[in-house]
Amino acid sequence: MLDTTDRDTALTTTVPAAGDDPLRQLEYEPELPTGPLAIRCINHPQEISLRGIPVLCSACRARRDWLLINQGRTVWVRCRCGNQWTEPEITRADFDALVHTPEMTIYPSVEEAIAAAGFDGALAGIYLL
Ligand SMILES: [Zn+2]
Repeated sequence: MLDTTDRDTALTTTVPAAGDDPLRQLEYEPELPTGPLAIRCINHPQEISLRGIPVLCSACRARRDWLLINQGRTVWVRCRCGNQWTEPEITRADFDALVHTPEMTIYPSVEEAIAAAGFDGALAGIYLL
């Protein structure tokens, strides 16, 4: 009799904990790429002009062929040379307007997405389009 009572209490303490386990929630995060913390990247082969001033890479002087990276309200511009900076003139709404396709590739990390898009510095000085 004492043995079964002990088993019942053990079950009630473990079952509710599984639902609130933060590790289980982390497992599901990569499947929700549209959440507020999702990081999205899009290629932008054309020049970008902000208030009439063309965006220029301060490291290599490139004028086009960017990777735009968005997380939350922040948008970064990344150059083929690997130089990356925050661009406060580009809003999340601007970024959303540039996303023309619902198709996306999900990568396990931003670094892998950057490398797959060719913006890890390996193609520095090259315009692909
Ligand atoms: Zn550059």
